[in-house]
Amino acid sequence: MNYLRARTIEEVLHRLSAQPQARIVCGATDLFADPALAPGKVEWVDISRVEALRAIARRDGMVRIGAAATWDQIAATAWLPAALRQAAESVGSRQIRVQGSIGGNLCHASPVADGVPPLLALDAQVELASERGVRRLPLAEFLLGRRRTALRADELLLAVCFPVAHERERTAFVKYANRDGMAIAVVSAAVRVAMSSDGHIEKLAVSVGGVSEVPLRLRALETALEGRHRSALAPATRELVTWSPIDDCRASAAHRLHVAPLAIERAFNDCIKESGHGGLSA
Ligand SMILES: Cc1cc2nc3c(=O)[nH]c(=O)nc-3n(C[C@H](O)[C@H](O)[C@H](O)COP(=O)(O)OP(=O)(O)OC[C@H]3O[C@@H](n4cnc5c(N)ncnc54)[C@H](O)[C@@H]3O)c2cc1C
Repeated sequence: MNYLRARTIEEVLHRLSAQPQARIVCGATDLFADPALAPGKVEWVDISRVEALRAIARRDGMVRIGAAATWDQIAATAWLPAALRQAAESVGSRQIRVQGSIGGNLCHASPVADGVPPLLALDAQVELASERGVRRLPLAEFLLGRRRTALRADELLLAVCFPVAHERERTAFVKYANRDGMAIAVVSAAVRVAMSSDGHIEKLAVSVGGVSEVPLRLRALETALEGRHRSALAPATRELVTWSPIDDCRASAAHRLHVAPLAIERAFNDCIKESGHGGLSA
């Protein structure tokens, strides 16, 4: 086995350029469970000690979260959007949150990755680096399918970035799983909304995980609801989420379709409560 514990980004990029077959490992919480991996035969590049990949910062109107930032760090960063902190708090157990990273979650590209719906709703972009340079992609273009991303063999995910929210925007994340406590989502939803004082939706972003190979932004729903009163959300959501290709051991497609609108409505309601306009039923 060839194992490098890198300390700098340059060291990682150099190793990936020389050995594009090398495998990046950060918290190893997804990798260790991959039955197809024969650890002794893999060239490993461990990025978990690269301090420059762990920073969470706000600058020039953008939030930037290093790819190796852990869920524990994210949950403890009070100024981050609520949806992202709520997603961080919902990941696995304390041991998994201390170890698992946001970058690992995005690169593993599970349809039910908790990090993806909030980041889609926040208009996140990913920063990808190789010795050839840095490129940026919207997160929606980075995620190509179940376990498939646009990451090239010699590239490292450096960070995920999104604009600092407008002060009137509220965000929320809701996860439905098969039991309380440590569990992978059946369906999850994230909402970002700005409301007028009379209950009209000024700006809306909605994303949902668990009903497609890749979590989705529901652009048609957003367009249909902008400018309308908040009471239009529930019927519009039920009309729109009508098909799921995911039918597996965790839940049937029918169950996912039943739950998805409820998750969206609950996330929306949480945003409204937080912004002081009362819930949907108020
Ligand atoms: C018991 C348990 C419970 C879990 N619960 C949840 C849950 O509730 N919600 C959830 O979403 N996930 C859950 N997970 C999955 C996992 O913990 C998360 O996806 C975590 O964020 C993965 O991060 P990591 O650093 O451990 O990734 P790793 O396992 O180190 O890597 C995952 C993949 O990403 C690649 N990679 C990692 N970092 C980079 C980078 N910077 N650039 C390029 N490639 C990279 C690796 O090569 C690998 O392919 C759980 C896992 C376990 C074992």
